[in-house]
This record gives sequence, C-alpha cells and structure tokens, in this order.
Amino acid sequence: MPDKTILPGSTIGILGGGQLGRMLAQAAEQLGYHVIGYTPEANSPLSQVCEKTFCASFEDKDKLQEFAKAVDVITIEFENIPSSAIEQIENIAPVRPAKNVLYITQNRLREKQFLHKNKFPIVPFGEIASEENIETVLPKFQLPAVLKTAGFGYDGKGQAKIETIKEAHIAYKKIGAKEAIIEQFISFDKEISVIGARSTDGSFAAFGPIENQHKNHILDVSVVPANTSAEIQNQAINITKSIMENLDVIGLLCVEFFLVGKDKLYVNELAPRPHNSGHLTLNACITSQFEQHIKAITGLPLGDTSIIRSSAMANLLGDIWSKRTPKWTNALSNKDIHLYLYGKSEARPGRKMGHLTACAATAEKAYELAIKARHSLSE
Ligand code: AMP
Repeated sequence: MPDKTILPGSTIGILGGGQLGRMLAQAAEQLGYHVIGYTPEANSPLSQVCEKTFCASFEDKDKLQEFAKAVDVITIEFENIPSSAIEQIENIAPVRPAKNVLYITQNRLREKQFLHKNKFPIVPFGEIASEENIETVLPKFQLPAVLKTAGFGYDGKGQAKIETIKEAHIAYKKIGAKEAIIEQFISFDKEISVIGARSTDGSFAAFGPIENQHKNHILDVSVVPANTSAEIQNQAINITKSIMENLDVIGLLCVEFFLVGKDKLYVNELAPRPHNSGHLTLNACITSQFEQHIKAITGLPLGDTSIIRSSAMANLLGDIWSKRTPKWTNALSNKDIHLYLYGKSEARPGRKMGHLTACAATAEKAYELAIKARHSLSE
C-alpha cells in the first residue's frame, strides 16, 4: 500500500485516554486535525479535550470497528492495547505504530529477546517461565538482581530487587507468579532517554538525550540538555534510530538507557509512544514530542527537535494533594514555570496528575527551579 500523507482536516483516532492522549490530541488539533478517542475510562484526560470519545472496552468488536470507520489513521497512547483489539481495526484504518511493534514492546521478555537477537546492548537477563526456573536461572547472576514481570509492567510496578533465592521466591509470588524475567542489577551513573520519531517515508529525528531521575521506580525529574558527552549522545541516538528501523516503527519510540561510567550504554526499556521524559519538549524544543508524533503518523515532514532553552520537568503526583490543594500561585509566581494538569479528578498517591517545567539559562538552574517550584506547592 503506497503511503499517502494524511492531511490536516482528516481525523486521527487515539486508543487510550490518559494524559499522553490528551497532549497528543491538543497537538493534533493545533495542526487542524479532528480527534476521536477510544477508552474504557469515563471522563478521561483525553475525552475532556477531543471532539468525540468512544467509551467502550477493548473487547467490544462492534465499537472498535465503528471507531475505526470514523477515522483516517489510528494511533495509541499506551502500548498495552490487546492485540485482539488491533486485529479488529487494522484493516479498516492504518494503525501507527503497527501491531508487531506493540506485540514486542508490551512484553519485557519479548522486548529483551528482540534487543538481544539484534545485538543491542542490554543488561544480562534470564527467563522465568515458572517458579522452578528460579533455582536454575538465579545462580547465573551476581546478586543483587531484579525480578520483573514480563507483561503489563510500567512505572516500576511488578518488579523487585532481590538479594537471595528466598527473596526471589517471595517476590515471584508477590508479582502474581506470572511469566517474568531476572535481570542483573547494575549501579548506573545516569539514566537517559532518547525519543526518536520516524515518519511514513522512513525519515528520522530525535529528541535528547534527556537526563532522568526516578523515585520509587517512577520518573520524578527530567532535564535537558543531558550532561553527557557528544559521543554518548550520538551512540544513544544511533541505537534509537536502528531499533526504530529494525521494528519499522512509525510514530515515536522512547528508548530508556542506563549509562555506566562515562561511556557504557545499556538499553533498559522501549515505549512506542510519547513518553513522560519528553514532556519538557513542550517548552524546551522547537517542536514538541506530541506535535512530532502527529507529524510522523500522518506523514507530514518532521519538525526541528533543537533545544531552545535548558529545561527541567518535575512530575506532580497525587501525593501533593494529600493535605490540601496545591498552591499553584506559589509556583507560577516565577515566570519561567509552565504548569500542565491532566484533568484527573481523583488525586491518589503515586498517580500522575500533572507536571511543571522550568526553563532557565542552564540545565542546573532549570533543575533547581523545578524542584523549588514543586516544593512551593505545599508550603
Ligand atoms: P523499568 O520499569 O524497567 O524501567 O524500571 C524502573 C526503574 O527501576 C528504572 O528506571 C531504574 O531506575 C530501576 N531499574 C530497573 N532495572 C534495573 C536494573 N537492572 N538495575 C538497576 N536499576 C534498575
């Protein structure tokens, strides 16, 4: 099928209703597209900003087909959409990224096997298909190691650091005794990510590297430009490009890396969609990751990813709401702070409710400003 540009005025369908879908819809609408969402969640962050939402389950074949007939191209805002749902719609409208990309990236074992087979640098891992495997697989690793569920894991959910065989058994039961992997625990010096964009004609552009800090396995703060060498920057971008070509991704792919010392990179995780670490591109870069994703899936020329201002993004989790409503005016009294709230009514601990981005003359200053602004919300 020859690739045709899907021009502004056409309709984009988004599967999934979270904040990534919301910010994708906002970028699509800026470019003159109509947006229709599909999510089981009522009053979702996406449905609040798009023209129409199908509020239905991913098992509802009729609704899925009705949705697909109403749009010109379909994209996703989270990768764990069941393959059975994609099969209902992929022959009605193009799905970008395609089913095989989701199939690999929604399961850690398949993702690691793909990376290993194609000789991308990864931390040693082993497969745990059932509890008995722990006895044979764990001795191959230096402890500590990390046990991670193969399916449906994100934000550190379904993973545990283990120091002994006994702990591995306990952790395995705790993650539901499901298919899992064991991975070498590594003391990295930095975590960085690159967000690549690849369009229908194979053209490529990348954001980053972005430097990331996690807290309790959840992304906490991201900063650009990352404090890494030009060599590492090139390596990380080349690996991202090569993975995208290998998987034939159309859209975005976020590659998260561990950097050990100054020059050893390991791929940790892939996400075929906009990524939390790329939220700062809304203020830091000429083109945002959301605008770029829309351009990639429609076949429009990709935008410039250059950084215009050093920036730092701090996530706002539901915990900040625990005592009272955050004091927005405190943070916004600094004119270099940009606030994004996702329209979620219930602020649960650990739930991503919004983020703020600070822009400054240097990455260090932006980091300090973002932390200070977030702190001032609870003062
Ligand atoms: P993941 O869900 O695999 O991205 O893991 C979430 C976070 O846990 C990562 O961003 C790291 O901070 C930490 N982590 C995951 N795997 C490892 C590992 N093998 N060694 C050390 N830290 C890890």
